[in-house]
Amino acid sequence: MVLFNQFCKINQEVLESKVMKVPSSLEIIQQDIKICKKCELCNTRNNAVPGIGDENADVVFIGEAPGKNEDLHGEPFIGTAGKRLDDALENAGLTRSSVYITNIVKCRPPNNRVPNDTEKSMCNNYLEEELQIINPKIICLLGNTSFYSILGGKEISKNHGQIIYKNNRVYFISFHPAATIYNQKLLDVFKNDIKKLVNELQKIKNKN
Ligand code: URA
Ligand code: SF4
Repeated sequence: MVLFNQFCKINQEVLESKVMKVPSSLEIIQQDIKICKKCELCNTRNNAVPGIGDENADVVFIGEAPGKNEDLHGEPFIGTAGKRLDDALENAGLTRSSVYITNIVKCRPPNNRVPNDTEKSMCNNYLEEELQIINPKIICLLGNTSFYSILGGKEISKNHGQIIYKNNRVYFISFHPAATIYNQKLLDVFKNDIKKLVNELQKIKNKN
């Protein structure tokens, strides 16, 4: 009987190790974000929105904050702006699942206002952890909030398409895809930027 019990215990352990997947560090951060209450945005959100994509991605895209659709579904860039981003990715030969997409803050600010300094600083460690784990070859900053929060930069229209090196990271600057929604010209510029980003990535890979 003792032997039989031991046999069952071992079998159960084998089964559990196969069925119960151990969460990765990135998954743990994503879970932490979902229950985070560190800033006031937790009071008005429906869902916190962690980043999504490949843990080994070469490129990380950073937007501003979740919008209405993202807040309802808990996934970044799934609304109209997300469609523009997806199209630009596809046009440049990238797929959504091969990159990583995240935001400066992970909860929707009321009426889509720009996140404030307190919210950004309370949320920053999640972004930092995402970047440390993924360690992408290039980071694409989408729009003013992202550009300003990470690099202190302004005037996307003058700086888009540029590469900036800072603290051992490589950044690429572009427009926020939402800016292209009613502006066909800007959409073409944005698509071109994302192609350029892919070119820069290839150059980085060729060097290594
Ligand atoms: N705009 C953003 O900046 N991020 C999203 O996830 C959606 C819209
Ligand atoms: Fe937490 Fe960031 Fe959401 Fe604020 S915005 S509650 S810091 S996850």
